[in-house]
Amino acid sequence: MKWISDLLDIIFPRRCCVCGELLSSQEQDICLNCLYALPKVEPHVSAEIEKIFWGKIGIERAASFIYYHKGSPYNNIIHALKYKGRPWTGLLFAGMAAAELNEKGFFDGIDAIIPVPLSREKRRKRGYNQCDYIADGISQATGIPVLKDIVERNISNETQTDKSRDERWENVKGIFTLKRPELLEGKHILLVDDILTTGATLASCASAIQACCNCRTSIFTLGYTSQAV
Ligand SMILES: [Zn+2]
Repeated sequence: MKWISDLLDIIFPRRCCVCGELLSSQEQDICLNCLYALPKVEPHVSAEIEKIFWGKIGIERAASFIYYHKGSPYNNIIHALKYKGRPWTGLLFAGMAAAELNEKGFFDGIDAIIPVPLSREKRRKRGYNQCDYIADGISQATGIPVLKDIVERNISNETQTDKSRDERWENVKGIFTLKRPELLEGKHILLVDDILTTGATLASCASAIQACCNCRTSIFTLGYTSQAV
């Protein structure tokens, strides 16, 4: 009922997660101006993203949706999802990404989506895992099931911005454990994370999975920090 949503907009004004302007009743989480200028990762950049994992793990394909570069107002999308208690932002933008990638056949043959888990401590503090929402957004758009709680993160290692690429890789080795390897045997899985920078965390998670079962892995992240910029 439109009058109820109009009334709620007056009592609890909704704001664009990028620029902070008030949203109209037709806009969802992001205003149309910001939506039109969304800094999407171009399809040809997938080759650059896949290259990040060379020499670490075998992957089938990889894609990201938007750039996450220092100073960009669009980083607010990821901040809203991770730090500002707006996990539904992940659903919305992952759904948008999935609709576009689905047309290009990106999800063809993928059997299950696995969100990269947080450590128990981190999850308790945040109250949710943002990657679960990204995974759910893709699932709603594609019908591919999500397998949550199948991988466990043994320790938190999220603060490693002061480390070099090689140090980060060393720092995350062995932090993930696959609990139900039989569920993934022979499957093609899509591993999902919020931001891709050096790929160390994703590579570590994929490596833990691939060590326990014979499966193929593809990767999707919502944000991408290109090393080429
Ligand atoms: Zn806006």
